[in-house]
Order: sequence, then structure tokens, then C-alpha cells
Amino acid sequence: MSGATFKELNMEMHYCWRCKCDVPMLDDVESDIFEPLIKQQLENIKIYRAKHECSISEAIGKIDKPATDKYLQITGYQENDCTEIAKHQLKKFGIQCPSCARLLRTPNATICAECFYSLPR
Ligand SMILES: [Zn+2]
Ligand SMILES: [Zn+2]
Repeated sequence: MSGATFKELNMEMHYCWRCKCDVPMLDDVESDIFEPLIKQQLENIKIYRAKHECSISEAIGKIDKPATDKYLQITGYQENDCTEIAKHQLKKFGIQCPSCARLLRTPNATICAECFYSLPR
């Protein structure tokens, strides 16, 4: 594994509205790294399940996990569900609120869900 490149990544921590806590968010460069890994991991689960007719959680325990392994390596977070990683991409949120520094919930949001700061138009 080419660890050197990835150790240089310095992931931003941001509040996730769904998880209700700060999580490492992927920027565009990191998203480009993880998207193929996530796809691969989902594919591995699908293939394993088709072969063994088992539950998702059983399959996750058995397959290669390129996305969540890389995630653990970079962030130190043990995430078992690679679709969670896909949800934690900066491009899926809005800008950082100028008032409270949380991310707006969606790229199109104009009001902060935390402090109700309203973006000037
Ligand atoms: Zn989350
Ligand atoms: Zn705010």
C-alpha cells in the first residue's frame, strides 16, 4: 500500500447532521480516492453474498474491504459500512456557516440548521 501519499491527507472534521457528531469529511481529492474503493467494496459484498447466500453483515466480515480499510488507515476510525463514508463528502454538504462553523446541510441550503444564520444573497 502506498501509505506515504495518504498520510499526507489531513482530513477536515465536520459535524454530520445524520451522525450527530464530528466526523472526518472527504474533500474532492479524497472523494476521488475513495469512490472507486467504495464501489469495489460494495461489489465484493454483492459477489460474496451471491455465492454464499448470506447476510450483509456476514459478508462484510469475510470480504476484502478496500474502502473501510483505507478509511481506518487515514482517519483512525473503524467504519464498517462503506456507504457511510460515501455520505461524508464535503461536496454533499454546503459551505461552512460563517457564524457557527458547521456545514450547511446541503449544497443548496441558504440557512444554517444549527444557528439559523441566513446567507446573504
Ligand atoms: Zn454522518
Ligand atoms: Zn450556523
